[in-house]
Amino acid sequence: MILVKRNEVPPVFVELEKRFLPEAERFYAIPLAERGQKQFDIKFASRNSQQAFMPALFDQFAGKCAYCESTLGASTKGHVDWFRPVTGVSGSSGKYLRDHYWRQAFEWENAYLACAECWRNKTNRFPLLDESTRAQASALRSELTRETPSLLDPCLDDPSEHLLFSRDGAVAGTTERGRVTIEVFGLNRPGLKVDRQRTLNHFEHATERHRVEMLRAGQPYLAAVRQISRRIAGSAPGEDARLQTAIELQQRFDTDKERASTAPEGNLDEWDSRKRVIESITIENVGTVESLQLDLLAKNTKRTPCFALLGINGAGKSTILKAIAIALGGRPYARRLKLKSNDLLAGNAASGRVAIRISGFEEEVVLTLKRC
Ligand SMILES: [Zn+2]
Repeated sequence: MILVKRNEVPPVFVELEKRFLPEAERFYAIPLAERGQKQFDIKFASRNSQQAFMPALFDQFAGKCAYCESTLGASTKGHVDWFRPVTGVSGSSGKYLRDHYWRQAFEWENAYLACAECWRNKTNRFPLLDESTRAQASALRSELTRETPSLLDPCLDDPSEHLLFSRDGAVAGTTERGRVTIEVFGLNRPGLKVDRQRTLNHFEHATERHRVEMLRAGQPYLAAVRQISRRIAGSAPGEDARLQTAIELQQRFDTDKERASTAPEGNLDEWDSRKRVIESITIENVGTVESLQLDLLAKNTKRTPCFALLGINGAGKSTILKAIAIALGGRPYARRLKLKSNDLLAGNAASGRVAIRISGFEEEVVLTLKRC
C-alpha cells in the first residue's frame, strides 16, 4: 500500500450523484421502523454506474489494487471498494448499523480500486480504534473527521509509517492501525506473499536500469520494493531491528485474533474483527453421507459466493447441516443434545469424521466419531 494523491472528482461521478442522490435521500428519510426489510439498492445504482467511472478509478490507482498493489486488468478484474461500506457497517459487538455511510456512495473520496481478494476480505467492516467516535447514520464527509479509523486510508495516511515488508514477501505492522489493516485485507495471504517475494527477488537481481523501472509509479508492490531498495542501498539504518519487532507484534496480534471465541468468556469484538466463513467441509461416515468434500471458497467467482444443497429426500442434506452444527458446537453441545457417536455414524462404520475449515483459523475444527 502506498500513499496516493486523489484526483479531481471525474465529471461522470458528479453526473451519477445528481441522478441518484435525491432518490437515496428520500429513501433514508423514511424512519427505520416504517421501512421494514426494504433496502435501498445503492449497489444496484452503483453497479450500473460502475462501468462509467471504472476507467477514472483505474486511472486514480494506476491500475493497481489500492490496498495490496496487485496489478489489475486483463485477467484480474478490479472492484469498486467503498472504503466506508455504503450498505451498512459491522459495528462493535457484532451490531449491524444499517444506515451507515450510504451518503459516502456519492463521494468520490470513498471509492477505491480493489482486487477481488482484498474486496472480499474486507466485506462490510470499517473498524474504529474508538467505537464511540463512530459518526451518525447519514453523516456527510465533513462530519466524519471525528472518527478514528483503524484501517489505513491510502489517500490520507502514509502507509510507510505503519507497514514494514520483509524479503520473504511478508508484511508486519509497526502500529496498531498497520496490524489491523494487514488483518482486514489479508495482506499476508499466501498467494500474495509469493507474488511479492518474487517481485522483491527480481528487484534484488535486476540491473540498475531495470531497478529504476521497477520503482516507477504504477509498478506492482511498490511499497515493498521501495523499502527493500532503501535497505540494499544502506539508507535505512535500524530498519532491520524495527522489522523484527514488528514481525513479533504482528504474530502476537494474529494469534490473539485466532484465539478469539464466541464462547461466553470470549471477546466478541475480537471475533467479529475477522471475517469468519466456512471455507471447506469434509464429512466421512456420518448418517447417510459416506464421503463428502465441499469447497465453499469459490475463489474464481466475482461476488461473495452463495451455496444451495440440492437433493432428493434422504440424500443427506439435513445430515450435512447437522454435522456442521455438531462439529462447530463442540462436545458440550452434543452432550446437551444427548447425542452419542453411534447415533451419528453411518451404517456399520466403525469411525467417522467431520472437519470444517473456518477462515482466520490455521487449524480445522474436527469432530471424531468412534463406535462403542
Ligand atoms: Zn488487493
